[in-house]
Amino acid sequence: MINVCDINIMKPLLAEHGFHFSKAKGQNFLIAPWVPESIAVKSGVDETVGVLEIGPGIGPLTQQLCLRAKKVCAVELDERLEPILEKTVGEFDNLEIIWNDVLKLDLPALVAGEFEGLRPMACANLPYYITSPILSALLEAECFEAVTVMVQKEVAQRIAAKPGSADYSAFTVFCQYYAEPELLFDVPAHCFLPQPKVTSAVITLRTRKEKPWDISDEKVFFRLVRSSFAMRRKKLSNGLASGFPELGKAGAAEVIAAAGFAPNIRGENLSIPEFARIANEIVKRREA
Ligand code: SAM
Repeated sequence: MINVCDINIMKPLLAEHGFHFSKAKGQNFLIAPWVPESIAVKSGVDETVGVLEIGPGIGPLTQQLCLRAKKVCAVELDERLEPILEKTVGEFDNLEIIWNDVLKLDLPALVAGEFEGLRPMACANLPYYITSPILSALLEAECFEAVTVMVQKEVAQRIAAKPGSADYSAFTVFCQYYAEPELLFDVPAHCFLPQPKVTSAVITLRTRKEKPWDISDEKVFFRLVRSSFAMRRKKLSNGLASGFPELGKAGAAEVIAAAGFAPNIRGENLSIPEFARIANEIVKRREA
């Protein structure tokens, strides 16, 4: 197996194929072999798993996943990488490469078609310019047992944040609605070529089989969350009145009281079950 993280191997390989990194495609390739190996080990991928990899690049994580998983499907946007991947991962017969934009794929259909009888997981060193849309698609697909990804460290902290902390955001609530996050380890910028300007971190999101709260209307719940954080320095009643104009200021205050909260409560301090209580009050009021 070619050690693609060794820059003395990687650089001539890229040069041989006239490959230049595309910033627009978020191409920062790993040059520290401990990183893809640790991601694969910590992801929990084994021979009972079918794993979707996003953005194999020249294949360092792909190799590590192919060594452990029953099947690997790797989705790559940049077809210039085809002859290089042929050399670096062509030896694996449990690998399929799909040349496409991951955001254009029907993920539940792909998982059903490719991973029958296997535990589906996703694993990737993500292209950072589309971290949120990819993570949203992976979680909303509701077909992966776990999603293990490398992202910017500040994004990882936001995903795992607790209510009331500076990092707690609408994206935190979105991710934790679908999954339980665990921060795994940091990856310094010098582990990549070219070096990104930020520190990275690996995070696992174990998706919830059952959601431990009762939410009567998901759309209302997420609208509430978005409107709460759109005005995070203000009282929740302001965000609520602007996100749900049909309630008006008085209605917003009534909803908050009916859900059992003080009038000056702030959205940034609310946990998911607390948001759920307020969302359910909004729905009740609509139905009354
Ligand atoms: N896995 C490799 C590694 O760790 O060295 C490369 C990771 S690099 C950060 C991100 C990869 O995602 C690149 O290979 C890039 O071409 C690919 N990519 C970017 N946008 C994509 C998209 N929309 N769909 C699929 N792959 C994409």
